[in-house]
Amino acid sequence: MAPTRTQVDTQKIAELKSGFKGDIILPGSPAYDSARSIWNAMIDKRPAIIARCATTTDVVRAVHFARDTGLQLAVRGGGHNIAGSALCDDGLVVDLSLMKAARVEPAGPRVTIEGGATLADLDAATQAHGLATPVGINSTTGIAGLTLGGGFGWLSRKYGMTVDNLEAAEVVTAAGTVVQASATEHPDLFWALRGGGGNFGVVTRFTFRLHPVGPNLLSGLIVYPLAAAKSVLQQYRAFIARAPEELTVWTVLRQAPPLPFLPAHVHGHGVVVLALLYTGDPTQGERLIAPLRRFGSPLGEHVGVQPYVAWQRAFDPLLTAGARNYWKSHNFTTLPDGLFDTVLTAIATLPSPQCEIFFGALGGATTRPAPEAMAYPHRDAQFVMNVHGRWDAAAEDHRCITWARDFFQASAPFASSGVYVNFLTADETDRVRAAYGSNYGRLAQVKRTYDPENVFRVNQNIAPSGASTTRHEQRSAA
Ligand SMILES: Cc1cc2nc3c(=O)[nH]c(=O)nc-3n(C[C@H](O)[C@H](O)[C@H](O)COP(=O)(O)OP(=O)(O)OC[C@H]3O[C@@H](n4cnc5c(N)ncnc54)[C@H](O)[C@@H]3O)c2cc1C
Repeated sequence: MAPTRTQVDTQKIAELKSGFKGDIILPGSPAYDSARSIWNAMIDKRPAIIARCATTTDVVRAVHFARDTGLQLAVRGGGHNIAGSALCDDGLVVDLSLMKAARVEPAGPRVTIEGGATLADLDAATQAHGLATPVGINSTTGIAGLTLGGGFGWLSRKYGMTVDNLEAAEVVTAAGTVVQASATEHPDLFWALRGGGGNFGVVTRFTFRLHPVGPNLLSGLIVYPLAAAKSVLQQYRAFIARAPEELTVWTVLRQAPPLPFLPAHVHGHGVVVLALLYTGDPTQGERLIAPLRRFGSPLGEHVGVQPYVAWQRAFDPLLTAGARNYWKSHNFTTLPDGLFDTVLTAIATLPSPQCEIFFGALGGATTRPAPEAMAYPHRDAQFVMNVHGRWDAAAEDHRCITWARDFFQASAPFASSGVYVNFLTADETDRVRAAYGSNYGRLAQVKRTYDPENVFRVNQNIAPSGASTTRHEQRSAA
Protein backbone atom coordinates (compact mmCIF):
# COMPACT_ATOMS: atom_id res chain seq x y z
CA MET A 1 0.00 0.00 0.00
CA ALA A 2 1.23 3.55 -0.75
CA PRO A 3 1.59 5.59 2.45
CA THR A 4 -1.13 8.07 3.37
CA ARG A 5 -0.56 11.49 4.87
CA THR A 6 -1.16 10.24 8.38
CA GLN A 7 1.86 8.00 7.85
CA VAL A 8 3.99 10.81 6.44
CA ASP A 9 6.32 12.18 9.04
CA THR A 10 5.08 15.56 10.31
CA GLN A 11 8.72 16.51 10.55
CA LYS A 12 9.01 16.03 6.79
CA ILE A 13 5.97 18.26 6.19
CA ALA A 14 7.56 20.94 8.37
CA GLU A 15 10.72 20.69 6.25
CA LEU A 16 8.66 21.08 3.06
CA LYS A 17 6.94 24.16 4.49
CA SER A 18 10.23 25.75 5.44
CA GLY A 19 11.26 28.14 2.67
CA PHE A 20 8.32 27.12 0.49
CA LYS A 21 7.19 30.31 -1.27
CA GLY A 22 3.61 29.17 -1.91
CA ASP A 23 1.17 27.48 0.47
CA ILE A 24 1.07 23.97 1.91
CA ILE A 25 -2.62 23.16 2.42
CA LEU A 26 -3.54 20.19 4.61
CA PRO A 27 -6.87 18.54 5.50
CA GLY A 28 -8.54 20.61 8.19
CA SER A 29 -7.07 23.91 7.04
CA PRO A 30 -9.66 26.58 6.08
CA ALA A 31 -8.50 26.62 2.44
CA TYR A 32 -8.60 22.83 2.03
CA ASP A 33 -12.10 22.34 0.64
CA SER A 34 -11.87 25.13 -1.93
CA ALA A 35 -8.36 23.95 -2.88
CA ARG A 36 -9.68 20.45 -3.64
CA SER A 37 -12.63 21.71 -5.72
CA ILE A 38 -12.31 21.48 -9.45
CA TRP A 39 -14.55 22.31 -12.41
CA ASN A 40 -16.43 19.01 -12.48
CA ALA A 41 -18.43 18.64 -9.25
CA MET A 42 -18.57 14.87 -9.74
CA ILE A 43 -14.93 14.71 -8.63
CA ASP A 44 -14.61 14.50 -4.84
CA LYS A 45 -11.02 13.58 -4.03
CA ARG A 46 -9.22 14.24 -0.76
CA PRO A 47 -5.50 14.80 -1.26
CA ALA A 48 -3.18 14.44 1.71
CA ILE A 49 -1.22 17.57 0.82
CA ILE A 50 -1.90 20.36 -1.65
CA ALA A 51 1.37 22.10 -2.47
CA ARG A 52 0.27 25.40 -4.00
CA CYS A 53 3.52 26.35 -5.64
CA ALA A 54 4.65 29.91 -6.33
CA THR A 55 7.93 29.18 -8.10
CA THR A 56 9.64 26.49 -10.16
CA THR A 57 11.78 25.77 -7.09
CA ASP A 58 8.60 25.06 -5.10
CA VAL A 59 7.58 22.57 -7.81
CA VAL A 60 10.99 20.88 -7.66
CA ARG A 61 10.70 20.55 -3.88
CA ALA A 62 7.16 19.17 -4.08
CA VAL A 63 8.18 16.54 -6.67
CA HIS A 64 11.13 15.47 -4.50
CA PHE A 65 8.84 15.32 -1.47
CA ALA A 66 6.34 13.06 -3.22
CA ARG A 67 9.10 10.77 -4.40
CA ASP A 68 10.86 10.63 -1.05
CA THR A 69 7.67 9.85 0.85
CA GLY A 70 6.19 7.57 -1.83
CA LEU A 71 3.02 9.67 -2.02
CA GLN A 72 1.08 9.58 -5.26
CA LEU A 73 1.53 12.80 -7.25
CA ALA A 74 -1.10 14.77 -9.18
CA VAL A 75 -0.66 18.06 -11.02
CA ARG A 76 -3.29 20.77 -11.20
CA GLY A 77 -3.21 23.43 -13.91
CA GLY A 78 -6.63 25.01 -14.41
CA GLY A 79 -8.49 22.08 -12.80
CA HIS A 80 -10.84 21.68 -15.78
CA ASN A 81 -10.11 18.13 -16.81
CA ILE A 82 -13.39 16.19 -16.88
CA ALA A 83 -11.67 13.05 -15.58
CA GLY A 84 -10.54 14.83 -12.41
CA SER A 85 -6.87 14.11 -13.02
CA ALA A 86 -5.86 17.37 -11.35
CA LEU A 87 -6.37 15.66 -7.98
CA CYS A 88 -5.65 12.36 -6.23
CA ASP A 89 -6.86 10.74 -3.03
CA ASP A 90 -4.34 10.63 -0.18
CA GLY A 91 -1.48 11.90 -2.33
CA LEU A 92 0.27 15.19 -3.03
CA VAL A 93 -1.15 17.71 -5.50
CA VAL A 94 1.23 20.12 -7.19
CA ASP A 95 -1.20 23.04 -7.60
CA LEU A 96 0.05 25.69 -10.02
CA SER A 97 -2.80 28.17 -9.59
CA LEU A 98 -0.49 30.86 -8.15
CA MET A 99 1.80 30.65 -11.19
CA LYS A 100 0.17 32.77 -13.89
CA ALA A 101 2.78 35.35 -14.91
CA ALA A 102 3.08 36.14 -18.63
CA ARG A 103 5.76 37.97 -20.60
CA VAL A 104 5.03 39.00 -24.18
CA GLU A 105 7.84 39.67 -26.66
CA PRO A 106 6.05 41.67 -29.38
CA ALA A 107 9.07 41.44 -31.67
CA GLY A 108 8.94 37.61 -31.69
CA PRO A 109 6.08 37.71 -31.50
CA ARG A 110 5.82 35.19 -28.66
CA VAL A 111 4.60 34.86 -25.09
CA THR A 112 6.07 32.94 -22.18
CA ILE A 113 3.47 32.07 -19.56
CA GLU A 114 3.51 30.07 -16.33
CA GLY A 115 1.83 26.68 -16.02
CA GLY A 116 -1.07 27.75 -13.78
CA ALA A 117 -2.42 30.40 -16.14
CA THR A 118 -5.91 30.24 -17.60
CA LEU A 119 -6.85 31.05 -21.16
CA ALA A 120 -8.15 34.39 -19.86
CA ASP A 121 -4.70 35.20 -18.43
CA LEU A 122 -3.05 34.34 -21.74
CA ASP A 123 -5.55 36.26 -23.88
CA ALA A 124 -5.35 39.34 -21.62
CA ALA A 125 -1.56 39.46 -21.89
CA THR A 126 -1.34 38.87 -25.63
CA GLN A 127 -4.34 40.96 -26.71
CA ALA A 128 -2.74 44.00 -25.04
CA HIS A 129 -0.44 43.79 -28.09
CA GLY A 130 -3.13 42.78 -30.62
CA LEU A 131 -1.71 39.24 -30.63
CA ALA A 132 -3.06 35.76 -29.83
CA THR A 133 -2.40 32.06 -30.16
CA PRO A 134 -5.15 29.47 -30.69
CA VAL A 135 -6.63 28.13 -27.45
CA GLY A 136 -10.03 26.81 -26.28
CA ILE A 137 -13.43 28.42 -26.08
CA ASN A 138 -13.92 28.73 -22.30
CA SER A 139 -11.67 31.34 -20.73
CA THR A 140 -11.40 29.67 -17.31
CA THR A 141 -9.71 26.54 -18.76
CA GLY A 142 -6.07 26.00 -17.82
CA ILE A 143 -3.52 26.64 -20.54
CA ALA A 144 -1.39 23.73 -19.26
CA GLY A 145 -3.78 20.79 -19.57
CA LEU A 146 -5.28 22.19 -22.75
CA THR A 147 -1.88 22.55 -24.43
CA LEU A 148 -0.49 19.21 -23.30
CA GLY A 149 -3.46 17.41 -24.88
CA GLY A 150 -3.42 19.39 -28.15
CA GLY A 151 -5.71 22.40 -27.76
CA PHE A 152 -8.11 23.86 -30.30
CA GLY A 153 -10.57 26.72 -30.57
CA TRP A 154 -11.79 29.57 -32.75
CA LEU A 155 -8.36 30.36 -34.25
CA SER A 156 -7.28 26.79 -34.99
CA ARG A 157 -8.46 26.51 -38.60
CA LYS A 158 -6.25 29.49 -39.36
CA TYR A 159 -3.30 29.00 -36.98
CA GLY A 160 -3.41 25.32 -36.02
CA MET A 161 -3.67 23.44 -32.75
CA THR A 162 -2.29 25.08 -29.60
CA VAL A 163 0.60 22.58 -29.72
CA ASP A 164 1.43 23.65 -33.27
CA ASN A 165 2.29 27.04 -31.77
CA LEU A 166 4.34 25.80 -28.82
CA GLU A 167 7.99 26.82 -29.18
CA ALA A 168 9.46 25.77 -25.84
CA ALA A 169 8.64 24.56 -22.34
CA GLU A 170 10.33 24.55 -18.95
CA VAL A 171 9.75 21.17 -17.31
CA VAL A 172 10.34 19.73 -13.86
CA THR A 173 11.00 16.07 -14.55
CA ALA A 174 10.26 13.04 -12.40
CA ALA A 175 13.86 13.22 -11.19
CA GLY A 176 13.12 16.71 -9.88
CA THR A 177 15.40 18.43 -12.35
CA VAL A 178 14.50 21.48 -14.43
CA VAL A 179 15.00 21.10 -18.17
CA GLN A 180 14.20 23.23 -21.18
CA ALA A 181 12.42 21.46 -24.04
CA SER A 182 12.34 22.84 -27.56
CA ALA A 183 13.25 21.81 -31.10
CA THR A 184 16.92 22.05 -30.10
CA GLU A 185 16.93 21.11 -26.39
CA HIS A 186 15.53 17.73 -25.32
CA PRO A 187 13.71 17.46 -28.66
CA ASP A 188 12.27 14.03 -27.76
CA LEU A 189 10.64 15.52 -24.67
CA PHE A 190 9.42 18.50 -26.69
CA TRP A 191 7.86 16.09 -29.22
CA ALA A 192 6.08 14.19 -26.43
CA LEU A 193 4.79 17.25 -24.57
CA ARG A 194 2.87 18.34 -27.67
CA GLY A 195 -0.07 15.97 -27.19
CA GLY A 196 1.23 13.44 -24.65
CA GLY A 197 -0.58 15.03 -21.71
CA GLY A 198 0.93 15.40 -18.24
CA ASN A 199 2.93 12.18 -18.54
CA PHE A 200 6.41 13.67 -18.77
CA GLY A 201 6.79 16.20 -15.97
CA VAL A 202 5.38 19.42 -14.57
CA VAL A 203 5.48 22.18 -17.16
CA THR A 204 6.18 25.39 -15.30
CA ARG A 205 6.49 27.65 -18.37
CA PHE A 206 5.19 27.52 -21.92
CA THR A 207 6.44 29.69 -24.80
CA PHE A 208 3.99 30.16 -27.68
CA ARG A 209 4.28 31.75 -31.11
CA LEU A 210 1.75 34.59 -31.54
CA HIS A 211 -0.23 35.98 -34.46
CA PRO A 212 -1.89 39.34 -35.13
CA VAL A 213 -5.52 38.88 -34.04
CA GLY A 214 -8.21 41.55 -33.56
CA PRO A 215 -8.49 43.10 -31.09
CA ASN A 216 -12.04 43.46 -32.55
CA LEU A 217 -13.47 40.64 -34.64
CA LEU A 218 -16.76 39.56 -36.20
CA SER A 219 -18.26 36.84 -34.03
CA GLY A 220 -21.53 35.64 -32.53
CA LEU A 221 -24.48 33.26 -32.67
CA ILE A 222 -27.25 32.50 -35.17
CA VAL A 223 -30.05 30.34 -33.72
CA TYR A 224 -32.47 28.05 -35.60
CA PRO A 225 -35.38 25.96 -34.29
CA LEU A 226 -34.76 22.28 -33.70
CA ALA A 227 -37.45 21.48 -36.27
CA ALA A 228 -35.07 22.80 -38.94
CA ALA A 229 -31.99 21.11 -37.49
CA LYS A 230 -31.43 18.42 -40.12
CA SER A 231 -31.59 20.89 -42.98
CA VAL A 232 -29.41 23.38 -41.05
CA LEU A 233 -26.82 20.68 -40.31
CA GLN A 234 -26.76 19.57 -43.96
CA GLN A 235 -26.26 23.15 -45.15
CA TYR A 236 -23.64 23.71 -42.45
CA ARG A 237 -21.70 20.66 -43.70
CA ALA A 238 -21.61 22.06 -47.25
CA PHE A 239 -20.79 25.57 -46.04
CA ILE A 240 -17.88 24.70 -43.76
CA ALA A 241 -16.31 22.47 -46.44
CA ARG A 242 -15.84 25.59 -48.60
CA ALA A 243 -15.28 28.19 -45.87
CA PRO A 244 -11.92 29.95 -45.72
CA GLU A 245 -9.65 29.06 -42.81
CA GLU A 246 -10.20 32.53 -41.32
CA LEU A 247 -13.83 31.57 -40.66
CA THR A 248 -14.78 29.03 -37.99
CA VAL A 249 -18.36 27.91 -37.38
CA TRP A 250 -19.36 25.36 -34.73
CA THR A 251 -22.81 23.86 -34.22
CA VAL A 252 -24.41 23.34 -30.83
CA LEU A 253 -27.69 21.47 -30.23
CA ARG A 254 -29.42 21.99 -26.89
CA GLN A 255 -32.34 23.71 -25.19
CA ALA A 256 -32.28 27.47 -25.71
CA PRO A 257 -30.92 29.28 -22.65
CA PRO A 258 -32.71 32.54 -21.74
CA LEU A 259 -30.56 34.67 -24.03
CA PRO A 260 -31.91 38.22 -24.35
CA PHE A 261 -31.86 38.19 -28.16
CA LEU A 262 -34.18 35.16 -28.31
CA PRO A 263 -37.97 35.55 -27.86
CA ALA A 264 -39.12 34.31 -24.44
CA HIS A 265 -41.30 31.58 -25.96
CA VAL A 266 -38.17 29.96 -27.41
CA HIS A 267 -36.39 29.65 -24.05
CA GLY A 268 -36.18 26.03 -22.93
CA HIS A 269 -37.01 24.68 -26.40
CA GLY A 270 -34.66 22.76 -28.65
CA VAL A 271 -32.42 24.81 -30.93
CA VAL A 272 -29.45 24.44 -33.20
CA VAL A 273 -26.93 27.22 -32.74
CA LEU A 274 -24.28 28.31 -35.23
CA ALA A 275 -21.40 29.90 -33.31
CA LEU A 276 -18.86 31.76 -35.45
CA LEU A 277 -15.69 33.78 -35.49
CA TYR A 278 -13.98 35.41 -38.48
CA THR A 279 -10.34 36.40 -37.92
CA GLY A 280 -10.06 38.71 -40.94
CA ASP A 281 -11.55 42.07 -41.89
CA PRO A 282 -15.11 42.20 -40.41
CA THR A 283 -16.62 43.72 -43.58
CA GLN A 284 -15.35 40.80 -45.61
CA GLY A 285 -16.56 38.50 -42.82
CA GLU A 286 -20.11 39.88 -43.05
CA ARG A 287 -20.20 38.94 -46.75
CA LEU A 288 -18.88 35.45 -46.01
CA ILE A 289 -21.37 34.66 -43.26
CA ALA A 290 -24.46 35.91 -45.15
CA PRO A 291 -25.41 32.36 -46.30
CA LEU A 292 -25.55 31.20 -42.65
CA ARG A 293 -28.63 33.43 -42.22
CA ARG A 294 -30.37 31.74 -45.15
CA PHE A 295 -30.31 28.15 -43.85
CA GLY A 296 -33.97 28.67 -42.85
CA SER A 297 -35.80 31.18 -40.64
CA PRO A 298 -33.52 32.03 -37.69
CA LEU A 299 -35.14 32.50 -34.29
CA GLY A 300 -32.66 35.22 -33.52
CA GLU A 301 -29.02 36.19 -33.79
CA HIS A 302 -26.37 38.06 -31.89
CA VAL A 303 -23.56 38.72 -34.35
CA GLY A 304 -21.33 41.75 -34.48
CA VAL A 305 -17.84 43.14 -34.12
CA GLN A 306 -16.64 42.72 -30.55
CA PRO A 307 -13.32 42.34 -28.74
CA TYR A 308 -11.75 38.92 -29.26
CA VAL A 309 -11.40 38.59 -25.46
CA ALA A 310 -15.16 39.16 -25.04
CA TRP A 311 -15.93 36.33 -27.50
CA GLN A 312 -13.43 34.12 -25.67
CA ARG A 313 -15.57 34.63 -22.54
CA ALA A 314 -18.94 34.34 -24.30
CA PHE A 315 -19.56 30.71 -23.29
CA ASP A 316 -18.29 31.07 -19.70
CA PRO A 317 -21.79 31.62 -18.19
CA LEU A 318 -22.93 28.26 -19.61
CA LEU A 319 -19.78 26.48 -18.41
CA THR A 320 -19.39 27.59 -14.83
CA ALA A 321 -17.67 25.34 -12.29
CA GLY A 322 -19.75 23.37 -9.80
CA ALA A 323 -22.18 21.41 -11.99
CA ARG A 324 -21.98 17.66 -12.48
CA ASN A 325 -20.53 16.80 -15.88
CA TYR A 326 -20.02 13.66 -17.97
CA TRP A 327 -18.64 13.76 -21.49
CA LYS A 328 -18.31 11.42 -24.44
CA SER A 329 -16.45 12.40 -27.58
CA HIS A 330 -15.68 11.25 -31.11
CA ASN A 331 -13.59 12.67 -33.94
CA PHE A 332 -15.14 12.79 -37.43
CA THR A 333 -13.71 13.21 -40.89
CA THR A 334 -17.19 13.73 -42.40
CA LEU A 335 -20.67 14.36 -41.01
CA PRO A 336 -23.03 11.91 -42.77
CA ASP A 337 -26.83 12.21 -42.74
CA GLY A 338 -27.13 9.08 -40.60
CA LEU A 339 -25.15 10.86 -37.88
CA PHE A 340 -27.55 13.79 -37.99
CA ASP A 341 -30.46 11.37 -37.45
CA THR A 342 -28.80 10.00 -34.29
CA VAL A 343 -28.14 13.54 -33.06
CA LEU A 344 -31.79 14.51 -33.51
CA THR A 345 -32.99 11.42 -31.66
CA ALA A 346 -30.69 12.25 -28.73
CA ILE A 347 -31.67 15.91 -28.63
CA ALA A 348 -35.35 14.91 -28.53
CA THR A 349 -34.65 13.19 -25.18
CA LEU A 350 -32.32 15.71 -23.47
CA PRO A 351 -32.24 14.66 -19.79
CA SER A 352 -31.44 18.15 -18.44
CA PRO A 353 -31.65 21.74 -19.74
CA GLN A 354 -27.86 22.03 -19.57
CA CYS A 355 -27.00 18.99 -21.72
CA GLU A 356 -25.79 19.60 -25.24
CA ILE A 357 -24.08 18.08 -28.27
CA PHE A 358 -21.58 20.18 -30.17
CA PHE A 359 -19.52 19.81 -33.32
CA GLY A 360 -16.32 21.86 -33.29
CA ALA A 361 -14.88 22.47 -36.76
CA LEU A 362 -11.19 21.76 -37.20
CA GLY A 363 -9.66 21.21 -40.63
CA GLY A 364 -7.52 23.94 -42.19
CA ALA A 365 -4.16 24.44 -40.50
CA THR A 366 -4.83 21.69 -37.94
CA THR A 367 -4.56 19.06 -40.67
CA ARG A 368 -1.26 20.19 -42.21
CA PRO A 369 1.39 18.69 -39.88
CA ALA A 370 2.13 15.00 -40.32
CA PRO A 371 0.55 12.76 -37.62
CA GLU A 372 4.03 11.84 -36.37
CA ALA A 373 5.37 15.43 -36.36
CA MET A 374 4.52 15.62 -32.67
CA ALA A 375 2.58 13.56 -30.15
CA TYR A 376 -0.86 14.95 -31.10
CA PRO A 377 -1.83 12.54 -33.91
CA HIS A 378 -5.35 13.38 -35.16
CA ARG A 379 -4.50 15.32 -38.28
CA ASP A 380 -7.42 13.83 -40.22
CA ALA A 381 -10.05 15.20 -37.81
CA GLN A 382 -12.35 17.69 -39.49
CA PHE A 383 -14.76 17.80 -36.54
CA VAL A 384 -14.61 17.03 -32.83
CA MET A 385 -17.97 16.08 -31.35
CA ASN A 386 -18.61 16.27 -27.65
CA VAL A 387 -21.78 15.07 -25.96
CA HIS A 388 -21.80 17.19 -22.87
CA GLY A 389 -23.95 15.74 -20.10
CA ARG A 390 -24.37 18.49 -17.50
CA TRP A 391 -26.79 18.66 -14.57
CA ASP A 392 -26.98 19.70 -10.91
CA ALA A 393 -28.38 16.94 -8.67
CA ALA A 394 -26.52 13.71 -7.87
CA ALA A 395 -29.85 11.92 -8.15
CA GLU A 396 -29.77 12.67 -11.89
CA ASP A 397 -26.36 11.01 -12.43
CA HIS A 398 -27.62 7.73 -13.83
CA ARG A 399 -30.16 9.28 -16.20
CA CYS A 400 -27.77 11.87 -17.62
CA ILE A 401 -24.78 9.53 -17.94
CA THR A 402 -26.93 6.90 -19.65
CA TRP A 403 -28.16 9.50 -22.14
CA ALA A 404 -24.58 10.51 -22.99
CA ARG A 405 -23.41 6.91 -23.33
CA ASP A 406 -26.39 5.93 -25.49
CA PHE A 407 -25.76 8.75 -27.94
CA PHE A 408 -22.04 7.98 -27.95
CA GLN A 409 -22.79 4.36 -28.95
CA ALA A 410 -25.35 5.36 -31.57
CA SER A 411 -22.96 7.83 -33.21
CA ALA A 412 -19.88 5.54 -33.06
CA PRO A 413 -20.43 3.94 -36.51
CA PHE A 414 -19.95 7.36 -38.15
CA ALA A 415 -16.80 8.33 -36.21
CA SER A 416 -13.12 7.98 -37.07
CA SER A 417 -11.05 5.84 -34.73
CA GLY A 418 -9.39 8.74 -32.90
CA VAL A 419 -10.52 10.65 -29.85
CA TYR A 420 -9.27 13.89 -28.30
CA VAL A 421 -7.40 12.96 -25.11
CA ASN A 422 -8.62 16.07 -23.29
CA PHE A 423 -12.26 15.00 -23.64
CA LEU A 424 -11.84 11.52 -22.11
CA THR A 425 -13.66 10.77 -18.87
CA ALA A 426 -12.23 8.79 -15.96
CA ASP A 427 -13.98 5.58 -17.04
CA GLU A 428 -12.45 5.53 -20.54
CA THR A 429 -9.10 3.87 -19.89
CA ASP A 430 -9.89 1.56 -22.82
CA ARG A 431 -9.68 4.57 -25.17
CA VAL A 432 -6.29 5.92 -24.06
CA ARG A 433 -4.42 4.17 -26.88
CA ALA A 434 -6.90 5.54 -29.43
CA ALA A 435 -6.29 9.01 -28.01
CA TYR A 436 -2.52 8.78 -28.58
CA GLY A 437 -3.03 6.84 -31.80
CA SER A 438 -0.06 5.71 -33.84
CA ASN A 439 2.29 7.74 -31.62
CA TYR A 440 1.69 5.61 -28.52
CA GLY A 441 4.81 3.45 -28.99
CA ARG A 442 7.16 6.42 -29.32
CA LEU A 443 5.48 8.14 -26.38
CA ALA A 444 6.09 5.06 -24.24
CA GLN A 445 9.80 5.23 -25.16
CA VAL A 446 10.05 8.90 -24.20
CA LYS A 447 8.18 8.09 -20.99
CA ARG A 448 10.82 5.48 -20.21
CA THR A 449 13.55 8.10 -20.62
CA TYR A 450 11.95 10.85 -18.53
CA ASP A 451 9.66 9.01 -16.11
CA PRO A 452 10.66 5.32 -15.98
CA GLU A 453 8.88 4.78 -12.64
CA ASN A 454 5.64 6.39 -13.81
CA VAL A 455 5.65 9.07 -11.12
CA PHE A 456 3.33 11.14 -13.35
CA ARG A 457 0.51 8.64 -13.69
CA VAL A 458 -2.58 10.56 -12.53
CA ASN A 459 -3.52 11.34 -16.13
CA GLN A 460 -4.45 9.51 -19.34
CA ASN A 461 -1.48 7.35 -18.63
CA ILE A 462 1.27 6.10 -20.91
CA ALA A 463 3.17 3.18 -19.38
CA PRO A 464 6.96 3.44 -19.81
CA SER A 465 7.98 1.09 -22.62
CA GLY A 466 9.35 -2.22 -21.43
CA ALA A 467 8.14 -1.60 -17.87
CA SER A 468 6.01 -4.45 -16.68
CA THR A 469 5.62 -3.20 -13.11
CA THR A 470 6.86 0.17 -11.92
CA ARG A 471 8.29 0.85 -8.46
CA HIS A 472 5.08 2.68 -7.51
CA GLU A 473 2.84 -0.07 -8.82
CA GLN A 474 4.87 -2.58 -6.82
CA ARG A 475 4.32 -0.43 -3.72
CA SER A 476 0.59 -0.14 -4.41
CA ALA A 477 0.30 -3.89 -4.84
CA ALA A 478 2.25 -4.64 -1.66
C1 LIG B 1 -15.75 23.98 -19.95
C2 LIG B 1 -14.61 23.40 -20.74
C3 LIG B 1 -14.39 23.82 -22.04
C4 LIG B 1 -13.35 23.26 -22.77
N1 LIG B 1 -13.13 23.71 -24.05
C5 LIG B 1 -12.06 23.23 -24.73
C6 LIG B 1 -11.74 23.74 -26.02
O1 LIG B 1 -12.42 24.61 -26.55
N2 LIG B 1 -10.66 23.24 -26.65
C7 LIG B 1 -9.86 22.29 -26.09
O2 LIG B 1 -8.88 21.91 -26.72
N3 LIG B 1 -10.15 21.77 -24.88
C8 LIG B 1 -11.22 22.22 -24.20
N4 LIG B 1 -11.51 21.72 -22.97
C9 LIG B 1 -10.76 20.55 -22.47
C10 LIG B 1 -9.51 21.00 -21.76
O3 LIG B 1 -8.50 21.17 -22.73
C11 LIG B 1 -9.09 19.92 -20.76
O4 LIG B 1 -10.08 19.80 -19.78
C12 LIG B 1 -7.75 20.23 -20.11
O5 LIG B 1 -7.25 19.06 -19.51
C13 LIG B 1 -7.88 21.33 -19.09
O6 LIG B 1 -6.64 21.73 -18.62
P1 LIG B 1 -6.51 22.27 -17.13
O7 LIG B 1 -5.11 22.70 -16.93
O8 LIG B 1 -7.60 23.25 -16.85
O9 LIG B 1 -6.88 20.96 -16.34
P2 LIG B 1 -6.27 20.16 -15.11
O10 LIG B 1 -7.42 19.32 -14.67
O11 LIG B 1 -5.63 21.03 -14.12
O12 LIG B 1 -5.17 19.27 -15.79
C14 LIG B 1 -5.44 18.39 -16.82
C15 LIG B 1 -4.35 17.35 -16.95
O13 LIG B 1 -3.13 17.97 -17.30
C16 LIG B 1 -2.15 17.76 -16.28
N5 LIG B 1 -1.49 19.04 -16.01
C17 LIG B 1 -2.09 20.19 -15.69
N6 LIG B 1 -1.19 21.16 -15.59
C18 LIG B 1 0.01 20.60 -15.85
C19 LIG B 1 1.33 21.10 -15.93
N7 LIG B 1 1.58 22.37 -15.71
N8 LIG B 1 2.32 20.24 -16.23
C20 LIG B 1 2.06 18.94 -16.47
N9 LIG B 1 0.83 18.42 -16.43
C21 LIG B 1 -0.19 19.24 -16.12
C22 LIG B 1 -2.92 17.28 -15.08
O14 LIG B 1 -2.17 16.44 -14.28
C23 LIG B 1 -4.07 16.58 -15.68
O15 LIG B 1 -3.74 15.26 -15.99
C24 LIG B 1 -12.53 22.27 -22.20
C25 LIG B 1 -12.77 21.85 -20.89
C26 LIG B 1 -13.80 22.40 -20.16
C27 LIG B 1 -14.07 21.91 -18.79
